[in-house]
Amino acid sequence: MSEENVIVVDCGDEVICDFCNDSYTDSEEIGGSAIGTWAICPKCTGKLTEEPDQRCGDDETFRDFVYRLRKQ
Ligand SMILES: [Zn+2]
Repeated sequence: MSEENVIVVDCGDEVICDFCNDSYTDSEEIGGSAIGTWAICPKCTGKLTEEPDQRCGDDETFRDFVYRLRKQ
């Protein structure tokens, strides 16, 4: 086991699913959605029982989608 690295992340750029708390900051995974101010990752979006307010674009990564939401 190597020593645990301390990762310095600019808070403003961090992308985390508000449901499962998985980090998508370095993920290129496409998909995801949002309900209100909650960002929901592609995995959790598949488990939703209600229709989200907004959905990620067809070729948009979850990360870019969250950045777009923050700019609104
Ligand atoms: Zn999730």
